[in-house]
Order: sequence, then C-alpha cells, then structure tokens
Amino acid sequence: MEKNDGKRTDTSSTSASYTKAVRHYSKKLPKETIEFLNGIAKDYAKVKNYTYSRYSGIGSMDKLTPVYTVLNETRASGMRKNLDLPVVYFELAVADAVRDIKSRWGVLKNKLNSIITANGNLSDTDKMYLRTVLKINTTFADILNRRPYKRPDKVAGEALNEDRLNNYLRRVTRKHLTKMESARSDYFRVTPAGYSFKNGEFKLVSRVPRQRIAVPLKDACIFDRQILVKICTDHVEIDVPVERKPKSHPDYVNTVYAHIGSRNMITLSNGHVYGKDLDTLASIETDRLVEINKARNKVRDALARAKDDKNEQKARHIETNNLGHKKYKRMKDRGRGISTTFINTELNRLIKEEKPEKIVITKRVMHNGRIENKSFYKTSNVRQSRSFASYIRKRLACKCKDNSIELVEINSKGTGSTCSVCGGAGKFIPNEGFACSECGCITDIGLNSARNIEKKYKVILCKDEDKQTF
Ligand SMILES: [Zn+2]
Repeated sequence: MEKNDGKRTDTSSTSASYTKAVRHYSKKLPKETIEFLNGIAKDYAKVKNYTYSRYSGIGSMDKLTPVYTVLNETRASGMRKNLDLPVVYFELAVADAVRDIKSRWGVLKNKLNSIITANGNLSDTDKMYLRTVLKINTTFADILNRRPYKRPDKVAGEALNEDRLNNYLRRVTRKHLTKMESARSDYFRVTPAGYSFKNGEFKLVSRVPRQRIAVPLKDACIFDRQILVKICTDHVEIDVPVERKPKSHPDYVNTVYAHIGSRNMITLSNGHVYGKDLDTLASIETDRLVEINKARNKVRDALARAKDDKNEQKARHIETNNLGHKKYKRMKDRGRGISTTFINTELNRLIKEEKPEKIVITKRVMHNGRIENKSFYKTSNVRQSRSFASYIRKRLACKCKDNSIELVEINSKGTGSTCSVCGGAGKFIPNEGFACSECGCITDIGLNSARNIEKKYKVILCKDEDKQTF
C-alpha cells in the first residue's frame, strides 16, 4: 500500500518551485518618513475597505476575475483623486482587496462542501449536484442571484428537485458568508513601478510628482518584484517573495501518522513524540504574563491615585516610565519567540528522524462554521498553547513544502473518540489518557488518535485502490 521501494514519483504539487517571503529591515527612520508611510498605509486600507464594501457581496462574485472590471470601476469612482493617492498604491490596494474577497469565497466554498457532505437529508445525487454547482463559479453566481442558468453537464440527466437544492444553497451561503474584516492600516504593497534603488538606497513614490522618499535598508539588497511594506514604530519591514526549489530527499520513504495536540505538540502512531510538553513551556509564558499584568495593574492604581491627588508630575512620570507598551510588547514577543523556536526545532527533528515521504494529519475541526481545536483540557494556561495550534500547522505545511513531503489532511471524525485497539467508544480522563469503555485499556490521547488516523487513512487508501481497479 505504501511506496517503500525507495523510488519516488514526484508529483507536481510537491516538486514545483514555490514562493517564500524573505524579510528585510530598514534602518531607524526619521519621524517624517514614518508619517508619510503611515499616511500611505491608511489610505491603502481605505481603498481596500471601499473595495470590500462594493465587491464582496453575491452580486459581484462573477465580476472578480479578471480584476480589470473592478479596477476600471474604482478608477472611475474618483476616490483616488480625493485621497490624492499615487496610482501605484491605489491600484494595488484594489487588487489586494479583490484577492482577499476571492480567497474568502474559496474558504466559503470549502466550508459549504463539508456542510453538504455532512448533511444527512441530501441524497448522493443531491450532493453531486451541489458540489458541481459550487465548482462552476458562474453557475453558482447565477443561482445565488436568481438568474437563469444552465444545469451543469455532469448532472444534466439526473432527476433532481432543483428548486429545493438551489434554495438550500442560497440559505447556507447566506448563513456562512462572513463580512470582510476591515483592512489593517499598518502595511501596503507596492510594485517595482512604485520604488527604485538609487545610490544603493531604496526609494518610494511619494504624493509629490518626481519626488521619492528614501528608506535606507539595513542590508545591501536589491529586489525587483511586488513587495509588502509593514510599518513599525521607528522602522519598516519589507517582505520580498523569493522563488524556492524544494529540497529533494530520495531516502525519505516513510508515511507517518501524526496527532497534533495541545499537551505534546505531535504524537506519531509509532509512539514517537515531538515537542513534548509544549503546554508547560507555553504556560510558563502565560504565568509570566499574568505576573507582569498584575504588576501593571498595581501601577495603574498608583496612576489613578496620583491623578486623584492632582499630582500631575507624578502621573506623567508613571505613564512614561512604568506603563510603556514597548518593553511589555518586546517581552511578550520574546516569550512567544521561545515557544516558536521550540516548535520549529522539534518539527525539523521530526522530519530529519522520521524521513517521511508523506505525513497524514487531520483537518482542523469545524464548529458552527468556526475552526476549533479539539481540546479536552480547560485550564487557562492551555489557551496559550492552543493559540499555537494554527502556527504549528502552518509551519508543518511550510516545512513539508520545503522538503517535498506530501501533507495529507483527513477528516478527524472518530479519530479522537474511539479506541485504537478495539474500535469501541471511550472517554478522556484528564492526566491519564483515553479510557476505552469496552476493552478497558487506557492509551495516551495523542497516541490513540495517531493510531486511529493511521487506521482510517489505510481504509481510505484501500477504497481508492478498489475504485481504480474498475
Ligand atoms: Zn478498546
């Protein structure tokens, strides 16, 4: 079932080159430069929000590709002139917003697909019809907007209650179509048309014609593509996409089955654990933050008292010396840095030691349309390690790409709640593990899940092979 003959068939999804953002830093910038950059970023966000408000609804969903229609309409709106925003920033803001809207439609379609799959009131033909419609954007748009449409060829001959299904589709779409969150105003994107390098200095187009703003960089680099400029208090970070070729490891031939947990980061079905006790590391960080916040609250009380006493000098002193945000944020970031370094080191170790060709994990659990992490610990310090769950997944996906490893996500249904020994039902006993109520065995929660993932995936593979023989 698994390819263990040492040969690898490279699939396009794992061997193609991909882009990765490389970050560059500016030197400390003068106040005027930061003000200029903040102004651009603010207007950039305004343009994005305007584009969201006009084009994120169902009426515009088939207007988004290609982007020129939206660009032409926003150009004609007069907004650019009102903001006095250079074209290079304006058009990219529109394109950026359109990309966000399209990606939200993509997320929604995935969500609708899983909702359709889980709906027991739909027949297999119903489901096939709905999935086909979801795949064809124009048909999907026509149905949502109650416009005439042609039934897709794939389901042309089927007996279906189309009205009922279309109504259902409109209803679930309405229910799950989220509003676009308003755009952040601390960054903007710019193409090479909006910047240049002169005498080794990076310069951005300003609001004044033929006048560019110098942004000296820390390293002597030159780039030539669309970049993202993020503004920090006294400097900027510039993300430049760079093409990368994934590393190939002909000796990586194993399939590993991994449970991503909140106590131990990753448990494999072979019993190996990576990122042991991640929650402890995270909780030390949480405890430290709690202590810091306690101390800050005391200072806030002192500040309030000083203000009550009309002791302005003291109040000012407290505000500037004891309640600053810079140091607090720096310490918070450093704490998170310790955990993220640990996560990355352990993921690297997993890849090096297990030599996987393929890693099988479960999809994140969806709950009322929101992604939730299955966790059975409710103590507050798990919150911190929970917030790492998406980071772990992101880094794992990234490292798989980097190393030509196939990452497979399967549905998590049943992988946590059944016994991996006998398949019976059981429950979680805090600090002990998963206790099977049928065979009585107690297994580590992560290990039990990982073993179930292995079982489940092997069943899926068998089914696929059956299909291929027909
Ligand atoms: Zn059992």
